[in-house]
Amino acid sequence: MKTVLISGGAGFIGSHLCDRLLLRTDVQKLVVVDNLWTGLLENIEHIKDPRFHFVKSDVETLQTSDKFDEIYHLASPASPPWYMKEPKRTISANLLGAMRLLDLLKKGGRFGFTSSSEVYGDPLVSPQPESYKGQVDCTGPRSSYDESKRCTESLLFEMQRTQGLDVKVVRPFNIYGPRTRADDGRAVSNFITQALSGRPITVFGDGLQSRSWGYVDDIVDGFARYFWVNQTDYKGPLNVGNDREISVLEVAQYVSRLVGGVPIVFEPSPPQDPTNRRPDLSNANYVMPEWSCKISYEQGVALTLEWFREKMKAEKQSSQLRSAHR
Ligand code: UDP
Repeated sequence: MKTVLISGGAGFIGSHLCDRLLLRTDVQKLVVVDNLWTGLLENIEHIKDPRFHFVKSDVETLQTSDKFDEIYHLASPASPPWYMKEPKRTISANLLGAMRLLDLLKKGGRFGFTSSSEVYGDPLVSPQPESYKGQVDCTGPRSSYDESKRCTESLLFEMQRTQGLDVKVVRPFNIYGPRTRADDGRAVSNFITQALSGRPITVFGDGLQSRSWGYVDDIVDGFARYFWVNQTDYKGPLNVGNDREISVLEVAQYVSRLVGGVPIVFEPSPPQDPTNRRPDLSNANYVMPEWSCKISYEQGVALTLEWFREKMKAEKQSSQLRSAHR
């Protein structure tokens, strides 16, 4: 039986990973550490499993005498406006967080880390294989996130090389789906919340920049297979994403159509906005040949829109109830 810790387990991706971990019968205890900076208690309030324990704490200062068989380190903001606002805290969560969590790993235990396709920066090759060294500006506005992911990878791969640490590092590409914060600020959730409230959709730049949008269920399924389901001799890191690359403008136009047409407005590009991003999935296909992204972006965006619609309806009803009782 295994004891497992997940940092950032109340976050968008982390909470989905908790749901997967609790399907395992060999997990005896699952501890979530989350400071609720970008995570939300509502993401985990459906979990009633007695094996599940929530600790509200910064990961880098977590106080515990427990040791764990498996640790998955997800604690970090992932949206540019959030990490750009608090760069020091972002670096601390990723890098110092990993250092603290390494102290809590049992000997022979497994350490999983969600790095990011941001390690490729604004890539000059497409698609990006894991061997591509990337194009990141270490003094640029995205660097707190990009470089802390890169440096945490360095820490883990050097521990793998020098001490044989069992390391599993994934590099996800633009994940979206249910449980994204309404105020997250990334493209898909912005477009959907704008469209559902009848506001214009904000496209930054000309919208011709592209991303490979991955629906959360597909991506977390890939994480689970690599982190604990499949045996592999591949040392990592591993790209996990949907390799269908779509422009930002196309996503905006699709969301607009889904709600019967809201206008699209063009706003200035954020600084150093990457022009393209697409995973080379050769290694993913080797490590988990049975895995593939099953949800097209058309389906995934429609599912996410329905989830936001329901959530906004429920929030409106509860605020009406509150004012009726006042
Ligand atoms: N974007 C946009 N409008 C928004 C939010 C984002 O046009 O309201 C663009 C952003 O400039 C980028 C792309 O969508 O080119 C993806 O941005 P996101 O913040 O979702 O993720 P990133 O890949 O930049 O981390």
